[in-house]
Amino acid sequence: MAEKPIDLRSDTVTKPSAAMRKAMAEAEVGDDVFMEDPTINRLQSRAAEIFGREAALYVPSGSMGNLISLIAHTRPGQEVICEENAHIYTNEMAAISGVAGLLPRLIPTEDGIMSWEQIGRMIRPKMYARAPTALICLENTHNLMGGTVYPTAIAHEICDRAHEAGLPVHLDGSRVFNAAVFLGESVGEMTKKFDSVQFCLSKGLGAPVGSMVVGSKSFIDRCRSIRKMLGGGMRQAGVIAAAGLIALEEGPKRLHIDQENAKFLAQELARLPGIRLNPARVQTNIIIFDVQETGLSSGDFLAALVERGVLGVPVDRDKVRLVTHLDVDRVGVEKAAEIIGAFLREISTRRPTGSTRAV
Ligand SMILES: *Cc1c(COP(=O)(O)O)cnc(C)c1O
Repeated sequence: MAEKPIDLRSDTVTKPSAAMRKAMAEAEVGDDVFMEDPTINRLQSRAAEIFGREAALYVPSGSMGNLISLIAHTRPGQEVICEENAHIYTNEMAAISGVAGLLPRLIPTEDGIMSWEQIGRMIRPKMYARAPTALICLENTHNLMGGTVYPTAIAHEICDRAHEAGLPVHLDGSRVFNAAVFLGESVGEMTKKFDSVQFCLSKGLGAPVGSMVVGSKSFIDRCRSIRKMLGGGMRQAGVIAAAGLIALEEGPKRLHIDQENAKFLAQELARLPGIRLNPARVQTNIIIFDVQETGLSSGDFLAALVERGVLGVPVDRDKVRLVTHLDVDRVGVEKAAEIIGAFLREISTRRPTGSTRAV
């Protein structure tokens, strides 16, 4: 394949802009383990300010930001309540138990959005033989359920009721700015009741690396020590934080474009033979659809698309995920839809009638 593939595997594949590279080259730096990197300090103050919090911490990845928060809120041998397909459970190498020593308690949902009604009944009554519930973790947007968004009233209710029960609530807000665009609300208002929030600079916002954790000053002080314990003290990382600052200031302003492109792509895909997808459920920049009726597994479907110049990832045997981002514009998305459409028409004529699994 001669042309550059249309890479819709994730919004993490975005490359730093010319402005970011210039800011990186010129960044003022210092040793951040002595808390003397002026660029990192600026990034942390801006993140805290945008989220209306006392403090913020720059961390190498979203996974480390979540892990640090889990450790800071709990002790080993306690339980964390989260959704069944939460990233902290499915995609972080079991660090929740392997490193933090916690037992995840999972709540299955249709769309990734839990209610207090579901969470409240999972909280352990205090009994000496039972691991106590220590934390509730929400994910907004919910990645593996298709970029779905928490209505703010539901998130606020969960936080209020959890606090009444004496439990802190962490938000895996890796794509919380996408949720904010969908809702037309500010991230500060949406997340004000959470005890901690992790968000990624390295996804749709476009930074090459990095995430932030925001919270109270005492919480962030604890997080800084835990980051060091995990080997995440980064010295002159102002070089990358400089790109992070641009991502934080400029990134959110253009996320609506990715979300319009995702909506468009979802509407195109929903028309194609063999694809099961409800475009009305695509709220942000993630599209998940079922390819079972094509007779192909998600792996075989994606392998065929690689040859035709479109990249995505499997969610499970039947489901495929595509993510829109700043490095694929409307023309790219139109082309991806055309390529997928041509492939599906090709296999639907090749397939003998009546057969569901012969290609
Ligand atoms: C991407 C992501 C993370 C963290 O990912 P890293 O690759 O470690 O930065 C955490 N939670 C969700 C929901 C994500 O989508």
